[in-house]
Amino acid sequence: MSKKINYQKLEKELKTERKSCWEIWDEKTKQTAFKFCEDYKIFLNEAKTERETVEISIKLAKTYGFKNIKEMKSLKTGDKVYAVNRDKNLFLAKIGHQGLSQGMKIVMAHIDSPHLDFKTTPIYEDENLVFAKTHYYGGIKKYQWPAIALALHGVVCLENGKNVNIKIGEKDDEPIFMITDLLPHLDRPAGPGSKIESREIKGEDLNLLLGSLPVNDSKVKERVKLAILEYLYNKYGIKEGDLVSAEIQAVPSEKARDLGFDRSLISAYGHDDKACSYSALMSFFDAKITEQTQVCILVDREEIGSEGNTGIQSLFLESFMLNILKLNENKNNLNDIYHSYGISQAISADVTTAVDPDYKDVYDLRNACRMGFGLAIERYTGYGGKYSTSEASAEFLQKLRMIFKKNKNIVCQFSGGIGKVDQGGGGTIAKYLANRNIDVVDAGVPLFNMHAPLEIASKADIYCAYLSYKTFFEN
Ligand code: MN
Ligand code: MN
Repeated sequence: MSKKINYQKLEKELKTERKSCWEIWDEKTKQTAFKFCEDYKIFLNEAKTERETVEISIKLAKTYGFKNIKEMKSLKTGDKVYAVNRDKNLFLAKIGHQGLSQGMKIVMAHIDSPHLDFKTTPIYEDENLVFAKTHYYGGIKKYQWPAIALALHGVVCLENGKNVNIKIGEKDDEPIFMITDLLPHLDRPAGPGSKIESREIKGEDLNLLLGSLPVNDSKVKERVKLAILEYLYNKYGIKEGDLVSAEIQAVPSEKARDLGFDRSLISAYGHDDKACSYSALMSFFDAKITEQTQVCILVDREEIGSEGNTGIQSLFLESFMLNILKLNENKNNLNDIYHSYGISQAISADVTTAVDPDYKDVYDLRNACRMGFGLAIERYTGYGGKYSTSEASAEFLQKLRMIFKKNKNIVCQFSGGIGKVDQGGGGTIAKYLANRNIDVVDAGVPLFNMHAPLEIASKADIYCAYLSYKTFFEN
């Protein structure tokens, strides 16, 4: 006699069912997610550059009782400290009950976003107009940057030793800047009457219009340029030569805004990677002190390969760790740090792509992440045959699954490689932690329009990232 099998029950038991956060969550959780994102939008508007993100994050950290590690004579359980590297990295730690020899919990995100940098000698006059030459930073689609309102953010280090901060184009009554584009009537490379082809925008075409008023002296050459230089000198004390020691970025001036009738999505500049750095930071602040020391890392230079002294390849991480070891355990040995790495667990909190219904052909739809379906866990990124990426081990992924099960509102989606095999690819900071012998996986918020001036994220996924990172820190 064979027992009758209930296949509907079996289906529930054996098959993975994908549901969005909106379907799973109760009303109260949905409201909490919306509320969380109100503060996130404020953060986005204040933190458009890596320097600004560091500044605002320190302010926030101080309200949670964090102190600069430089002020500390020693560290004990429950102490909260931060360290700043060149105003562009922020490393924070909460000392656990056990020393570093028991490993750490690390959540790491980047705070740089694609933008346009002023070139070293940027300002020039052409056809009685003045422009600034730029060099794009990060992987952008160049055609997306002309004909949109841009703001200027940055710092100019003057000859007299003073640093001048610049932020113009954000307030409603401030001017904005723009890269010009060709009218469609003349954008017909194949000749009159042919199709509008939209000629390719080259890197050297990304020139920012700065002004058109000349000084009133016909004997002066480049009268409009002189008028702009006069303005910069009167307003900021900047001479043309000072711009060689400056970092000025053009970023979209648009504010973060709700998107859709139901307000479930957010349009903003810099979701990559503020969606994860903000949720990492807030989860870190809110997580209770546990056995292991918790570390939150906000780094720069991810968009260009994490090169340089403010990227995660910099030895600043080791010097931060050594500082903690010294102050907490009175040890000063890199080997102890390496041992700690070996038993630490890390999340590389970075965005990925959600399946865009308009471009389904680039995704493996069976192994892709969806908008609103929660934390996107990418076990590897890279390209081709898994080149240029680390990959989370089966054991580590299993541990994570068990950790995330502890909160019923955490919704996860698992993926690997951002598109179809051989479709292209990308990288994150995960591999630089993996190379240090740390167990690490990418887990973050899926986006539409990644690296465009305005990107789209779901409020559900952002809040889900917060819940997941917090649970990860605490377990
Ligand atoms: Mn990113
Ligand atoms: Mn990116």
